[in-house]
Amino acid sequence: MRQSMRYMSTRGQVRDLSFKDAVMMGLANDGGLLLPQQIPAISPEQLLEYRQMSYPQIAFDIISRFTGDDFDAADLKELIERSYATFEHPEVTPVVKKDGVYILELFHGPTLAFKDVALQFLGNLFEYLLEERDEKMNILGATSGDTGSAAIYGVRGKERINIFIMYPHGKVSPIQELQMTTVTDANVFNLAIRGTFDDGQRIIKEAFGDLDFKAKYNLGAVNSINWARVLAQIVYYFYAFSRVQPQEDCDQVDFSVPTGNFGDIFAGYMAKRMGLPIGKLILATNENNILSRFVLNGDYSVGNVVETLSPSMDIQIASNFERYLFYLLGEDSESLCGLMESFSSSKSLQFDEQLQAKVREDFTALTVDKAATIEQISDFHQRTGYVLDPHTAVGVRAGEQLSDPDIPVVCLATAHPAKFGEAVQQAIGQDPEMPASLQGIEEREKRCDLINADTEQVKAYLVERAR
Ligand SMILES: *Cc1c(COP(=O)(O)O)cnc(C)c1O
Repeated sequence: MRQSMRYMSTRGQVRDLSFKDAVMMGLANDGGLLLPQQIPAISPEQLLEYRQMSYPQIAFDIISRFTGDDFDAADLKELIERSYATFEHPEVTPVVKKDGVYILELFHGPTLAFKDVALQFLGNLFEYLLEERDEKMNILGATSGDTGSAAIYGVRGKERINIFIMYPHGKVSPIQELQMTTVTDANVFNLAIRGTFDDGQRIIKEAFGDLDFKAKYNLGAVNSINWARVLAQIVYYFYAFSRVQPQEDCDQVDFSVPTGNFGDIFAGYMAKRMGLPIGKLILATNENNILSRFVLNGDYSVGNVVETLSPSMDIQIASNFERYLFYLLGEDSESLCGLMESFSSSKSLQFDEQLQAKVREDFTALTVDKAATIEQISDFHQRTGYVLDPHTAVGVRAGEQLSDPDIPVVCLATAHPAKFGEAVQQAIGQDPEMPASLQGIEEREKRCDLINADTEQVKAYLVERAR
């Protein structure tokens, strides 16, 4: 019997939402982020059963524990199967072993980055819920590159949804931009903003914070503030464990995660809390290293965004961090609100020795700069013949340097190397192989509008074109 499952906000003013309402709300109406009121536990026996199960079967088992009893099981199963049938690989997210490290390939979806895993699911989920409620939705999203195209592919052509995606003009890779602007379905709007990704996130927070506007246009969130995204990402930690453990006969594994917005690694943290035997979560960042500074020194202070070889991680304010902070503070919404307030004025938080020790029970971290990223791609290619994209290279670098020799490490491969051909060319002197989905993309018709990084202008744009 599946139990009822309720959701609450980290800020404490919203409680007892159903899964469906939590997905529709996106950002909680009190400005916080939504979390399940209890965390379901997966038993060691269940983990053993996962070894015999396919990706969609494991996904159904895990996701249904979070949807609770208000979601028809047959419908959920069908929705999950449909979401992962779009992946090119029969195993959906295969695990390969290269020179002692496991690579969890999360890039076999339609846009060749791990965000497809969550957004193929979320697109179908929105469609299902809108149908059920006879509603329409306007999705407003900000992207540092990969979320945009993955979200667009998740909802393109869907009847009840328009999607508006902001990306920082000139700051995403040419392929990433083409993957968005060449989708010319009538329900897709690409907005190149004159600003950074953090400007995009700020506009999102402000637009969603205007509750009248949010309600009037039924704004939907696709950024990893949406609980359903985190949920879909929890699945592959369990999947990877079920494939690696039989080969290694190990009690636990470490995971190394190239990190920007803290969504992906937070899913790993949830998996750990559910009972997956994870030793350490290795948080790997590029030079935009606010999160690795937090893990290593308790210093969460915002720096300037610098451009790197891994643009999807060029982020300073990680929107999912609040979810982790809520747990770190012992689920105390009042302290959390205090911290968030002081962060929003000072752009800096410092954590004492005791909290730092608690962080280090679950996490370790490394900053990997440009030179080390290039060296990692080149060196790994020489050793194994395998081509890493620059984001994955940051994670593999950290995985190789920080993992315990007695614990296998799984490195999350978050993008296909062809999405970041320039960095790969620089590292190994040749272009990565071009997958079929990208061939001829430069020649396709494009659609996009340039706009200032101004909340009122973006809102006006949406109002004119809303469903
Ligand atoms: C989004 C992204 C990341 C960062 O993931 P977060 O969930 O934001 O931490 C890493 N690599 C790639 C390729 C991405 O697209």
